Amino acid sequence: MQLNKSVVDVIGNTPLIRLKKASELTGCEIYGKAEFMNPGQSVKDRAALFIIKDAIAKGKLEPGGVIVEGTAGNTGIGLALVGNALGYRSVIVIPETQSQEKKDMLRLAGAHLIEVPAVPYKDPNNYVKLSGRLAESLAASEKHGAIWANQFDNVANRQAHVETTANEIWQQTDGKVDGFICAVGTGGTLAGTGLRLKEIDSRIKIGLADPLGSAIYGYYANGELKAEGSSITEGIGQGRITANLEGAPVDMPFQISDEEALPICYDLLEHEGLCLGGSSGINVAGAIRMAKEMGPGNTIVTMLCDYGTRYQSKMFNPEFLRSKNLPVPGWLERRWDIEVPFA
Ligand code: PMP
Repeated sequence: MQLNKSVVDVIGNTPLIRLKKASELTGCEIYGKAEFMNPGQSVKDRAALFIIKDAIAKGKLEPGGVIVEGTAGNTGIGLALVGNALGYRSVIVIPETQSQEKKDMLRLAGAHLIEVPAVPYKDPNNYVKLSGRLAESLAASEKHGAIWANQFDNVANRQAHVETTANEIWQQTDGKVDGFICAVGTGGTLAGTGLRLKEIDSRIKIGLADPLGSAIYGYYANGELKAEGSSITEGIGQGRITANLEGAPVDMPFQISDEEALPICYDLLEHEGLCLGGSSGINVAGAIRMAKEMGPGNTIVTMLCDYGTRYQSKMFNPEFLRSKNLPVPGWLERRWDIEVPFA
């Protein structure tokens, strides 16, 4: 019997789920790590927990203190929930372009939410930079102080994946994993998992699945940090080499469009019962490309980063899709064809 002391103890150790169609299509075994089963329904609970534990261990975070962060939402949700469980408050800065569902969840979890216009990183009013300045002033004004989680450049983030995600994947596949691939937001998942898997077995290939509008594919493909196009996916895409991404051992970079990724998400929900956000679609599309390049018989693992209900108003909303000139999957508008006798 395992008795958990708090919600914090059930972060991580997520199951691996075989992705049937992706596996059949490629002749490989493709698995998704069910990160949506974390308490905050995303992979970012891992980073949130490690960032908070690191700050406590370094004596930076006092009981009752405030955790400040700039986030596309998921890290904020993780920080707010872990904060509630351990006795900290949270102040979250989020670009207003992020989904309403994530903002609602943050408010529900008790975070003080500050919505700001989405401007590039180089702008001093970018959400990440704003959150840093806010943490500085709250550290001075708050009775119990404040810390800046700084998920992009605080390597406690990637340490979560060095110490947990990679080892879980190795154990869950009985050491059979041949490839690992995922997208980059902060880079914590890719670099942390990639570095540790390479350390365990250097023959494991590491892939990058990069959405359009992100500069990381260009960096690994031809040494140029250059972005083109755009994506409706949230939480991924990056324009610089963050401290967390530094030294990520990328062997196989792929660039994935929304037109390639979204139909995979819809198909996974309709035929495999997996309700996932857009970054998971980018990841699974990347895993399929990687499998095709590596050839049949390989075992490839990717991340199912968060749950799809978080984007019901966007990628699962026909009106939103039409406004972005993206195809609407038939079943989103279809009525069930079962004749219900008492309806
Ligand atoms: N998918 C989603 C939905 C996310 O919120 C994030 C984190 N921003 C990622 C993927 C990328 O994870 P990482 O920050 O570890 O690169």
